[in-house]
Amino acid sequence: MNTPEEQQKIVEAVSKKFPHMTCPMCSNTKFALVRGFTMNILSKDTTTFGDLSKAIPTASFTCENCGFLAQYSLQTLGLSQ
Ligand SMILES: [Zn+2]
Repeated sequence: MNTPEEQQKIVEAVSKKFPHMTCPMCSNTKFALVRGFTMNILSKDTTTFGDLSKAIPTASFTCENCGFLAQYSLQTLGLSQ
C-alpha cells in the first residue's frame, strides 16, 4: 500500500507529464490512483511465470467511468530506488 506521501508524489509526477489526462476508451477525464503498487513481472517466454525479482514497478490509475487502467513506470517517473 502506498503511503499518502507516495500517493501525492505519484499524482504530482503524472499530472506534470499529463495535465489533461483523458481515457483512451471513453474520453473521461477523471481518474483515481489505485492504492498500492502494481508489478509487471518479466518473463523470458509465454509458458513460464517470470522471476519475481525482475519486474517493473508501476503506479496505476483507473478511469472513474469505464475502469480502464493506465500504468506508469515508477522508475520513469523518477519515483523508484
Ligand atoms: Zn474510461
